[in-house]
Amino acid sequence: MKLVHSGKVRDVYADGDDLILVASDRVSVYDVVLPTPIPDKGKLLTALSLWWFEQLADLVPNHVLSATDVPEEFAGRAIRCRRLEILPVEWIARGYLAGLGWESYQATNTISGVQFPPGLLEGSQLPRPVFTPSTKTDPADGHDEHINEDQVAALVGADVTKKLGELTVELYSRGAEIARERGVIIADTKFEFGRAADGSLLLADEVLTPDSSRFWRVEDWKPGQRQNAFDKQFVRDWARDLGWWDKTPPGPEVPPEVVDETRRRYVDIYERLTGLRWA
Ligand code: ATP
Ligand code: MG
Repeated sequence: MKLVHSGKVRDVYADGDDLILVASDRVSVYDVVLPTPIPDKGKLLTALSLWWFEQLADLVPNHVLSATDVPEEFAGRAIRCRRLEILPVEWIARGYLAGLGWESYQATNTISGVQFPPGLLEGSQLPRPVFTPSTKTDPADGHDEHINEDQVAALVGADVTKKLGELTVELYSRGAEIARERGVIIADTKFEFGRAADGSLLLADEVLTPDSSRFWRVEDWKPGQRQNAFDKQFVRDWARDLGWWDKTPPGPEVPPEVVDETRRRYVDIYERLTGLRWA
């Protein structure tokens, strides 16, 4: 198999017409891969994505071909999928104010050109979930930036923008509803879509994982402050509190207690959402 892409977290191999998406235990913050792996992270992301693909299958077709027909050495952390042309947009939906969405709201009361009422706090639930796309930028070329729907349309066409923008909110809403019943708030998330050779659009990449979403426990949620993150934000917060601001490699070595706590939080989310025990 030929390695076609080594991303921050995943390695992508070509096998005939298929791709094998292999999730590693790497963790990245601000586009920098940290030197310390988080044990089981690749398996947790893979298992949770597969679970979500199934929950959402009636809303959208996806790229998954098989979770078992993968090389033995990658078992449990690889997905055989259809090779797609990934659209150059991060399809983000937000139901709560956090991260870049919160920063943008503070500055202008808007995110991606969408206006919100004044008086919302960090962590507040938005009146309704919104589509707040951003560019999908190669880390070498800078960071992702919020764009409005006209800018998305310039990249992928107006029809696709409307269809996938609505689908993004629909997928998020379904996911958030399922999670809420299990005591988890999904504050926001990022989807990727790709085009198959026959022109159809499929849900790709990973779905509603702690790397691509913000997860908070219902019992912790308190607007007006930084939320207790059960996702990658936990590592970002640690790096920021450490004073690692410059966002240039190499990132700091993660101490064992932070590694353990991060793993514990990824496991906690997996178990709460799926109702399964992490073996
Ligand atoms: P990127 O900015 O390209 O997403 P990354 O560092 O986030 O880089 P990873 O998420 O680690 O990359 O690697 C997964 C890569 O595989 C991503 O580039 C993603 O867009 C791509 N990908 C996911 N599903 C498919 C698919 N079905 N067909 C083609 N590419 C895919
Ligand atoms: Mg990625």
